[in-house]
Amino acid sequence: MKTANGHEIIQLFEKFSPKAFAMEDDKIGLQLGRLNKKINKIMITLDVLEEVIDEAIKRDVQLIIAHHPPIFRPLKNVLTDTVQGRMIEKLLKHDIAVYAAHTNLDVAKGGVNDLLANALGLTNPEVLVPTYETKLKKLVVFTPLSHAEEIRHVLGKTGAGFIGHYSHCSFSAKGTGRFLPEENTNPYIGQQGHLESVDEVRIETIVPEQLLKKVVTAMIKAHPYEEVAYDIYSVENKGEVLGLGRIGTIDEMTLGEFAERVKTALEVDKVRVVGDLSSRVKKVAVLGGDGNKYFKHAKFKGADVYVTGDLYYHTAHDAMMEGLNMIDPGHNVEKIMKKGVTEILSRMCKESGYEVEIFPSEINTDPFKFV
Ligand SMILES: [Zn+2]
Repeated sequence: MKTANGHEIIQLFEKFSPKAFAMEDDKIGLQLGRLNKKINKIMITLDVLEEVIDEAIKRDVQLIIAHHPPIFRPLKNVLTDTVQGRMIEKLLKHDIAVYAAHTNLDVAKGGVNDLLANALGLTNPEVLVPTYETKLKKLVVFTPLSHAEEIRHVLGKTGAGFIGHYSHCSFSAKGTGRFLPEENTNPYIGQQGHLESVDEVRIETIVPEQLLKKVVTAMIKAHPYEEVAYDIYSVENKGEVLGLGRIGTIDEMTLGEFAERVKTALEVDKVRVVGDLSSRVKKVAVLGGDGNKYFKHAKFKGADVYVTGDLYYHTAHDAMMEGLNMIDPGHNVEKIMKKGVTEILSRMCKESGYEVEIFPSEINTDPFKFV
């Protein structure tokens, strides 16, 4: 086990929640402080409030990963007799870096929306609002027969060959490879100055663009040849579609019963409900945060009920007239990311051999109380 620096931790985190997933103009990434330092303790929080910063200081944290970016609008000044200025001062003084993963964490597989869908017991959740499409590349590699199995295994293991729910997809064809080792070569097969012909296998597979470098590096490492023959093609095929919100099914129940489930699953005392409590619901859409503008997506995709935060009076009227039930458990249910990200990042760090303590903030940042 070794102590990682901030860059190594964030590199790992961005494999799970790449910046490219974020909506335009979102304020994500490192917001304050520096990453070129050793990291022993990371705190995960939904919001960065002053109380949360005090908690981070008390717990000796070097890095805060937050869902809501604390610096959203450009700063005109940093005055330390204002709350925001004081917060920045405290963070800098204690050398605590703040990194924000906002809409990219909503979109990420295993991110906020998947965590919410999972908590609500949705089966086969799909993306509600598509926002990102993975680009694909075609990789073709030529290998001697003896190594074809191993190369296919390495390609599959590093993430190549995913088509829908199928992994390790590839196609192989046998043929003859020819080469003439020139001076200063050390050929695996054959000898310098002699034209060789070898029984080879052409293996082709599909690779998501973001994994290409990793897949090619692993493939070259596993390949016996000094100079590996391979081709990378651009393809027009659509890759995996990612996005905001999820839609899936539950065992049919009444809207009232489902509202109770939402309260228990998302740990809230009260929810606001639009619709007839005795109506039956089976198809459920959920979108973390403020999902007002996407209620038509939920309706169009056949949802019986749409769960989202910050529901406006007029959106509620519109949904009511469209016959779409809605449940607003509050924006703060995104707090589910504290535990979710802690678990995922801890697992990734452990796999990379990083000695680091990761924990959720214990501060409740919900500004609302029901009286
Ligand atoms: Zn939010």
